[in-house]
Amino acid sequence: MSEPLLDVRDLRVYFSVFRGFVQRMLGGGDAKVHAVDGVTFSIEPREVFGLVGESGCGKTTIAKTLVGLVRPTSGEILFHGKDVTRPNKRALFRLREEIQLIYQDAHAALSPAMSVGEAVADVLRTHGLPSEDGDRVRPESEEALRDAVYSVFDDVGLRPPGFFYDKYPDQLSGGQKQRVVAARVIALRPHLIVADEPVAMLDMSIRARILEFLMDLKARYQLTYLFITHDLATAKFVCDRIAIMYLGRIVEMGPSRTIYADPKHPYTRALLQAIPIPNPERRTKKVLPRGEVPNAVWPPAGCRFHPRCPVALPTCGWEGRDFIALLEERWLSSDLASREAAAGPPDAWKANELVVRRDVARENEKGVEGLVKEIVKEAGGPMAQAVYDIRVEDAQPPDWVAGVSYGLVAALFGGALWGLIAGFGGYVFGIVAVVIGWTVAAAVRRGAERVTPGIVGLGVVLTLLGVFVGDVTGLTIALWRLGFDISIVNVLAAYPIIVAASPGQAAIAYLFGLLGAAVAARRLRREMKEVRSVVVEFRRPDPLGPKEVEDRTVECLLY
Ligand code: SF4
Repeated sequence: MSEPLLDVRDLRVYFSVFRGFVQRMLGGGDAKVHAVDGVTFSIEPREVFGLVGESGCGKTTIAKTLVGLVRPTSGEILFHGKDVTRPNKRALFRLREEIQLIYQDAHAALSPAMSVGEAVADVLRTHGLPSEDGDRVRPESEEALRDAVYSVFDDVGLRPPGFFYDKYPDQLSGGQKQRVVAARVIALRPHLIVADEPVAMLDMSIRARILEFLMDLKARYQLTYLFITHDLATAKFVCDRIAIMYLGRIVEMGPSRTIYADPKHPYTRALLQAIPIPNPERRTKKVLPRGEVPNAVWPPAGCRFHPRCPVALPTCGWEGRDFIALLEERWLSSDLASREAAAGPPDAWKANELVVRRDVARENEKGVEGLVKEIVKEAGGPMAQAVYDIRVEDAQPPDWVAGVSYGLVAALFGGALWGLIAGFGGYVFGIVAVVIGWTVAAAVRRGAERVTPGIVGLGVVLTLLGVFVGDVTGLTIALWRLGFDISIVNVLAAYPIIVAASPGQAAIAYLFGLLGAAVAARRLRREMKEVRSVVVEFRRPDPLGPKEVEDRTVECLLY
């Protein structure tokens, strides 16, 4: 077997989700979109390899990573056997001569301010004209360059080339624009063309013609294609091999004919069923995936397709948040929503891997537990079979953060009070400190897991700042009244003396803190006694854990 032209190994591309400062302090700052998550495939020379999947499954991210527009998080990309995973600037410049990208939107890919002839000439001016021996040579003159562009236009069927050279993109049809993009791509004689949905934005009437044209270019220039599409019917027409992608992973891969004749994965089957058949007599009942593609920031555990799979099994990786999704789905019906209101709302449930729990008042625990059992029984199916236990247990006490936070609130009051005594600056900072403190306290009540050491740290810093500014303001006023020069140097020089002379003032602030912590601890204990947790726990798949399930891509559990 010949060496693959392109070898992609365990490629991962994650994007950090931007979060504001406060969101980061409240937790979840390391959220990432798992756009491509462990993708491996290779492409042989002169092969057309298709990447097929729904929008958002990571196809375009792979395309952009291959041409160096996106940096991979991990994995390896070998081109002609050479590692091009993270090329430097010079290597990237050369790589782009060999791997070219055709974009979905030909209009957006062309500059509206540049004639299409100039758009192609510019590429040749930058990279040079391809020569017979594979090198690149600088064009001798502008005439030579224009001739080269004419020749490429002729190749892609833009005839007569002189007629098109000075046209602007908005003077051309969709098909002609896609030919200009193809001209710009093949002008450099690349080895691999990454065609990202090249016909998706074209009218049905010219799609087939453009596809034929791309295949014709392949035959003429011995090209290799990575053909990206969401349409299996198009992939069938052009691809030798196909990989089906779902939520950042390849779920099935094989020769096109085999994939069409004998699809293994339920997702591939669903995609095939979605292809319209232009014959009303051959209409069959379609079994399509349920719901929407899940959020790629928190992809489902186990088999990623399990929340939508029409043939899922209890062992496919069900977890706590699937129960919340069930509640949300049921409550789209107003009847069910009013009957089952006592079990909700869904955002009152907190999922943590295989467990999902909701805190309820002690007097309601039995009612909610019974209702949840009824909901699971009525829903039935693999998810219900994967439920291991539904029970009531003591509510989880907030972790140490809760105690610290309550104490902190009180300490902040202390700081604020001292600020009030000391002067106006302290008053302002004291108020800010109290607001932060109450935010912490509110977060603790909603669930201690949202409070991070960061927010506690911020509160502490603000408290100290409040006390400090209070001190300095008071001191400044005192110096002013006594007729001293109140320069910053004088105030700061006098500060340690004042603090040393009045330890009782600082002690008052922290006494309040201790007092508040004690009161808060008592209140917390009382609250905990009144609250119980209704828990739904899912079975850990045995003997297959979620990891094993997820590894069974083509050999899905059913087959
Ligand atoms: S492992 Fe197979 S049966 Fe289970 S959810 Fe995934 S695709 Fe469906």
